[in-house]
Amino acid sequence: MWMFPSRSFAQADTDRKFIVVLDAGHGGSDVGARGSFSLEKNVALAITLKLGQLLQQTQPDVKVVYTRTTDTYPALYERADLANKVHADLFISIHCNSMPYHRVLVGHRYVRRNGKRVRVPIYKMVRSDSETGTETYVLGLHRMGQKTQAIESEMEADSNDVEARENAYIVHEKNYQQNYGGFDPSKPETYILLALHSSAYLSQSIAFADSVEQEFKRVGRPSRGVKQKGLAVLAGTAMPAVLVETGFINNPREEKYLNSPEGQLEIAQCIARAIEKYKQAVWKYRSLVNTVQESFATDAPAAPVYRIQLLVSNHYYRPDDRIFQHLGMPVDIEDTTLNQQKAYRYLTGRFLQRDSAEQKLDFVRQIGFKDAFIVVYQQGSRVNP
Ligand SMILES: [Zn+2]
Repeated sequence: MWMFPSRSFAQADTDRKFIVVLDAGHGGSDVGARGSFSLEKNVALAITLKLGQLLQQTQPDVKVVYTRTTDTYPALYERADLANKVHADLFISIHCNSMPYHRVLVGHRYVRRNGKRVRVPIYKMVRSDSETGTETYVLGLHRMGQKTQAIESEMEADSNDVEARENAYIVHEKNYQQNYGGFDPSKPETYILLALHSSAYLSQSIAFADSVEQEFKRVGRPSRGVKQKGLAVLAGTAMPAVLVETGFINNPREEKYLNSPEGQLEIAQCIARAIEKYKQAVWKYRSLVNTVQESFATDAPAAPVYRIQLLVSNHYYRPDDRIFQHLGMPVDIEDTTLNQQKAYRYLTGRFLQRDSAEQKLDFVRQIGFKDAFIVVYQQGSRVNP
């Protein structure tokens, strides 16, 4: 006899708003990149507030949550934590790009060293001010080993690196060593956390990021595409998350655009349209899940019950762990063994029809449980291995 959790399948997702966390990059004493007359932190905030307003006016099924609405600096992990706490569907961090300075050889001079005349080079620090356009980042794993280094070295003048720039301020945060444990490559949890984030949300993050860049292209902004970087503000989030570089603040023409009300509105409109598209896709999926749930009978006697095995791991996750957050169905845990060690089997869903289970399985794999498969239970015991 099956007992069904009272917090049952249909978790009223249909009544729920689509929660978007808008994060204006930098703030307070972290000014971000500098233009000739403006600072990234202020431009990012202006665009963020415009986007929030626009969403509230045009998409009533969206709930907007800001990480900051004034000139303050919430720590990066606090921004991610907030998004997790409100169970956001989407996290969007808004920034401006800037070309880094690099060394250019402009000549030589002679100096005396140990009584000898020595020719030494003369360098000038320059940066290109002709770069234009947008790029949208999703969290990347590929440079994990360099992560701590990137944070520690802060901004190197010749580093052409969004990662270093956007993570740079972390070192000024109190207890950053503890708070960014997620970035310590020597800890196995780092890989679990980041790998989970990446597998569960990466494809959705990329889909959304791509949509943002498409919208920018449509209004004639040069798109530099979707890119992957180890960005601290994204790493802590348990939902699809992107960082949008809206333009180059050190390019005089772009700086003007980024500071103009028309430019800011255009950028906000592009991101809002991408949100609308992404949200529609999520609503469509949720209505499918609800249909599947309705067709499910609650008393299941001796008939086989199809369940989805999400994963087997030596690591214990609570059923309410954030890695399960987007399943929309409760998770239960069975004890098992893996490599002769105690392990846990994570299961979700109870379906009377294999078809229904398979439909859900597709989604479960899409959100990152790539090895999930269907198992059959009869009268409480597993029928197939
Ligand atoms: Zn930035």
